[in-house]
Amino acid sequence: MPRPIQALVHSAALAHNLALAAQHAPDSRVWAVVKANAYGHGLERCFAGLQRADGFALLDLEEAQRLRALDWRGPILLLEGCFEPRDLELCSRLNLWHVVHTAEQIDWMAAHKTQMPHRVFLKMNSGMNRLGFSEARLRSAWARLNALPQVKEISLMTHFSDADGPRGIAHQVQAFARATEDLPGERSLANSAAVLRHTALAGIAADWVRAGIMLYGSAPDAPAGSVHTWGLQPTMTLCSRLISVQQLQPGDTVGYGSTYTASQAQRIGIVACGYADGYPRHAPSGTPVLVDGVRCALVGRVSMDMVAVDLSPVPQAGPGSEATLWGHGPHGTALPIDDVAQAAGTVGYELMCALSTRVPVAVAD
Ligand SMILES: *Cc1c(COP(=O)(O)O)cnc(C)c1O
Repeated sequence: MPRPIQALVHSAALAHNLALAAQHAPDSRVWAVVKANAYGHGLERCFAGLQRADGFALLDLEEAQRLRALDWRGPILLLEGCFEPRDLELCSRLNLWHVVHTAEQIDWMAAHKTQMPHRVFLKMNSGMNRLGFSEARLRSAWARLNALPQVKEISLMTHFSDADGPRGIAHQVQAFARATEDLPGERSLANSAAVLRHTALAGIAADWVRAGIMLYGSAPDAPAGSVHTWGLQPTMTLCSRLISVQQLQPGDTVGYGSTYTASQAQRIGIVACGYADGYPRHAPSGTPVLVDGVRCALVGRVSMDMVAVDLSPVPQAGPGSEATLWGHGPHGTALPIDDVAQAAGTVGYELMCALSTRVPVAVAD
């Protein structure tokens, strides 16, 4: 029998979350952001659930090739553009749209031989200070691109640093609007947090929104917002089983470093899931885990292949009982990935992306 750990990707939930993104941005087309192998879910596994997207946005050319191999004929956008000149050949061959965020990328375009002019997304740095042209340099970049026979259409984009937090997006929207005022072309600004929290501010959704994390059933603004606030459904379940039960006496400790000490007699269950499966090693005692659908608390340090769980809330549990690390549990229960992320001091994004290749994954409904 294989080790009992398994991950499930929920196709119907992906479709639900995508429809929700479209509802929040009714006048925009929706890029399904599927970078990092669809946020750890697997591009191929997500494709059916996300195929109503207007386009797919990602970073790796290899992932773009995989999407074309799935027979996706619609738009694909490379969010970081090309990494070297010869990447442009693949863009021509696979009809990939690509971001242009440096002067070098414009030089490469100018030297590129192609029968098929490209559609590019010119990126402005409106305050994130990661990628893109400053307000002062945007216009000359646009003019250079516009003069190239290799370019057929220029769209404009920027990325928000604080769409999920108190600072908000107004300062960046203003900078972008000012810099692009009289430039033609489609616009793309909003990530998930902006789609959910700010699209009501008319105009910012623009022609394309770029929905990532919300598609995967994690609230971009957790813990202020939650999957319940936004009506998102979990798209990834990580589940396993108890493979051992121990009876502790007061003073007994659990796991490496003896970081947990029982203060009373207590049953604990050992779950076949550890950090080598992608479970966060920094999850402290108290991190929620469902056992037979009942919310329990992790105790002691996460090891490579196992975690321990206090079984006090579920006395009938024993070896073979189902453990849900995140996602859907038995009997209609659920444990939001954001609850686990918050306990472990990280975000849902990191947990789903870290799912290890040793975990078998199945697509469920
Ligand atoms: C990852 C990414 C997104 C999606 O962000 P989410 O917070 O996951 O919605 C949008 N735009 C760009 C440029 C990105 O890199």
